[in-house]
Parts: sequence; C-alpha cells; structure tokens
Amino acid sequence: MAPVIEAREVRLSFGATPALRGADVTIDAGEILAVMGPSGSGKSTLLHCLAGILVPDSGEIVFSGRRVDAMSEPERSALRRDRFGFVFQFGQLVPELTAVENVALPLLLNGTRRTAALAEASTWFDRLELDGLQRRRSGELSGGQAQRVALARGLVAGPEVLFADEPTGSLDSLGGEHVMELLTTEARRHGTTVVLVTHEPRIAAYADREVMVRDGAVHQLTAERIVV
Ligand code: ADP
Repeated sequence: MAPVIEAREVRLSFGATPALRGADVTIDAGEILAVMGPSGSGKSTLLHCLAGILVPDSGEIVFSGRRVDAMSEPERSALRRDRFGFVFQFGQLVPELTAVENVALPLLLNGTRRTAALAEASTWFDRLELDGLQRRRSGELSGGQAQRVALARGLVAGPEVLFADEPTGSLDSLGGEHVMELLTTEARRHGTTVVLVTHEPRIAAYADREVMVRDGAVHQLTAERIVV
C-alpha cells in the first residue's frame, strides 16, 4: 500500500507550550487509523497539521507526494476544500440551514450547482439512516442525528482523506457506535483514508490500526504494547 499522508519529525509549539515534539506517522491509502492518547498529548494538533490547518514549526507534512507544510494558505485552503473531509466533536452544523443544506455545503463550495448539490446530499440521508430529516434544522435533531449529518457533510464531496476529531465524543455509547459503524462502512466502500482522533479504546477498535500519542510524539502499538 502506498502512503497517502505522512508527518515527518513534526514539531509545533503554542508559545512556550510544545504540542508536538518530533511526531512521525505514515498512513496508507484507504487505511482507517485511530490516533489515541491522553488529553493534551497532541492528538488534535497532529490532526490539524496533517490536514493543513496548522503549519508546523519544523518537519514535513506530505500528502500525495506534495509538501503541505510548504504550501501557501490559499493552496492549503484549496486542498482542504477539494481533497479532504472533516467531522468534529460537536458536528458544527450551520444552525440557519436545513440538514440537507448543511450536507450540500462542501459541494456548493466546490462549485456544484445548487439543484445537483441538494440531490446528491439527499442520497446520503438514506445511507446514514437519516431518512425524513432533510428539512430539519440542527436544533431539531438529536445529538446522534446531528453527528450523522456532520458525517454526511464530511463524505459528500468524495474526499481522499476524512479527518475525524473525537467524532463520537459528544454521544452516548450506542450513538457513538452507530456513527462509527456508518463511518467505517462508508469509508471502506469509497476507499477513503480516515484519520480518527479518539481517547476511547472502544471507538479506536473500529480502525484498522492504532497509534498512541504521548507528550507530542507518536508511538506504534503492536499486540497491546507501546513500541518506543
Ligand atoms: P489532545 O488533542 O491530545 O487533547 P492538543 O493537541 O489539543 O491535545 O493539545 C496539545 C497541547 O497543546 C496541550 O498542552 C494544549 O494545551 C496545547 N494547545 C493546543 N492548542 C492550543 C492553542 N490553540 N493555544 C495554546 N495551546 C494549545
């Protein structure tokens, strides 16, 4: 399998606080990787660097053979819009829009015409067990429903990599498992690479592989052991 995205010796500090201290990780195309680790260990910062949201102080981020850390902000913004999808802990749906309009947003930003974007967005409601909820606003959805709408929005434009930062963190265990079952089924069906940040072993168990972040560095996990 070819690597699709890599971090090499990535360092990043927020003022005097080091968040990443030489983080290395390689993710293969189509792989679902869980990034585990305690709160404050650097998981979200690593995800933000891999996704071109944050630029490391040093080290390299390589996506599909291109140096993301060397790109300009407009180039990184285009990369995020055209090649990546995102799901965050609290769905972050736009409250003024209906559920189907929220799902259609990435397509509208890519220049898809409104009718086509809404039609494509609608097809995800059946797949993510949201049928009949297309016209609801986020305040009229349960937490689990809102997270599945956010997942549909993350996947609708066919991203090569889906970045999911604690996507089940705001849900109870049944709701979380439902989101993870749908996320992994759809990612495998489309060959989407997934970077999943979670501190819950039960959620990480859905991934193909787990790594552990501790003190800003990434450790491989094999047979329940941390390899330093
Ligand atoms: P995790 O996702 O594992 O909880 P983070 O990547 O969010 O960890 O944080 C790693 C470290 O960087 C922590 O010490 C955190 O307080 C710090 N940090 C993260 N984001 C910021 C920020 N925007 N400003 C200042 N410090 C930050």
